[in-house]
Amino acid sequence: MTLLGTLGWMPRGARETTCFAVRSGPSLLLFDAGTGLRRLLDPEHVGLLAGAEEVHLFLSHYHLDHVCGLAYLSGVLAGHDVVIHPPAETLTGVDPLAAVAELVRRPYNPVDLADMKRVRVRPASAENEVAGHVVRLRSQHHSDTSVSFRLDDELVIATDTSPDPDAALFAEGAGLWLHEAWYWAGDPALAAVPEELRPGYAAHSEATAVAGLAALAGVARLILVHLNPLAGERSYLPMRDAARTVFAHTDVVDDGTVAATSAPV
Ligand SMILES: [Zn+2]
Ligand SMILES: [Zn+2]
Repeated sequence: MTLLGTLGWMPRGARETTCFAVRSGPSLLLFDAGTGLRRLLDPEHVGLLAGAEEVHLFLSHYHLDHVCGLAYLSGVLAGHDVVIHPPAETLTGVDPLAAVAELVRRPYNPVDLADMKRVRVRPASAENEVAGHVVRLRSQHHSDTSVSFRLDDELVIATDTSPDPDAALFAEGAGLWLHEAWYWAGDPALAAVPEELRPGYAAHSEATAVAGLAALAGVARLILVHLNPLAGERSYLPMRDAARTVFAHTDVVDDGTVAATSAPV
């Protein structure tokens, strides 16, 4: 799988917002459509799309840093049939068809979703068969309910969530867990976080807590994603090191990194 965008909220420097890609035979699976979606145009990533007969785009929730790529979907994915899989209403309490149509309509977009002939919307429920894979969804606590994804027994993606012990069960035994980490408890810069931003911290995850969940789940590798753009590039390695004291196989990687989803034998 390829990490096309590893930041939350806004792109900054060399990092884009959340988007992850898995190429599987004739299908490309995408998880979230943050600004990282545009990296599919980069020469080093065009192979992900080459020959792809169908593109499946799963959405974790509707916050704009995860869906702003819908505005350039027809440009980045030109010539491809695209199925958008927003989470079913039973998982989030939000009508998925209305929510996606609302994001892609005039006057915010030059065309309505219904006018995009190669794009369909098929809500994803708790368990789905897509492109020969089993994709499971699980509701998460966030400022608006989000979902995490499990792709077969290999890959789990949990972004935009506060840490949840039940998430360890969902991720149990996976080869790779991408989990968000917005901050780490030992960061001396935390004291300077403005009051108005603190509620946002409660809707996201602390890195050592995430590492504890990874240890509990027995995953092979944890990569911290949806990094906090305000914290800045210099804060990510100290955060990783703090997480490593709890779970040694923890990494922070650059955008564009390709990571194996199966555990090393
Ligand atoms: Zn986000
Ligand atoms: Zn969010």
